[in-house]
Amino acid sequence: MSEEKKNSPINVSELDSKFKYEVSEQPGGENLTLCFSCGICTAGCPVTEVEGEYNPRKLIRMILLGMKEEVLSSNLIWLCSLCYTCYARCPQNVKFTDIMGVLRDMAVREKYVDSSFVKNIDEIDRLSQQIRHQMVRAIFPQKKENKSIDQKELVKMALKNLDKE
Ligand code: SF4
Ligand code: SF4
Repeated sequence: MSEEKKNSPINVSELDSKFKYEVSEQPGGENLTLCFSCGICTAGCPVTEVEGEYNPRKLIRMILLGMKEEVLSSNLIWLCSLCYTCYARCPQNVKFTDIMGVLRDMAVREKYVDSSFVKNIDEIDRLSQQIRHQMVRAIFPQKKENKSIDQKELVKMALKNLDKE
């Protein structure tokens, strides 16, 4: 979302009242309208922790309001790590992770992004899983010791091990 868009008031004439139906008609989007805006998803989201602009509850409100252009052109929909924490904790079974999949598919289909961009995102996801895997492996020897761990050192070790693969 651009800085100007983010701070500008909502223009009612630009809203697309069909957007929420388009999303909820797709497999994975069926429970969109069950959201009662409690914010539990946002409170537990690991991406929100590092990127304050990223807010699942707000994204759902934007879909329900019909802010199609803003949502599908936003960089924010590509930040989700698809960890399913919000999915597991939502009291309304909204299945936000699946909604994110619907939004990404729509963004590609409607040419808000190029398919090569999606390929890059997939590669980043794969690489971040490999880094996590190496970091966890690196702390195995310390399982029984009560040592504090330098996370930055772990990242360096993980990257070094990835280079050797
Ligand atoms: S946890 Fe579920 S009901 Fe609550 S805001 Fe998030 S999606 Fe909506
Ligand atoms: S699936 Fe996405 S939105 Fe949900 S908690 Fe994980 S990162 Fe956040």
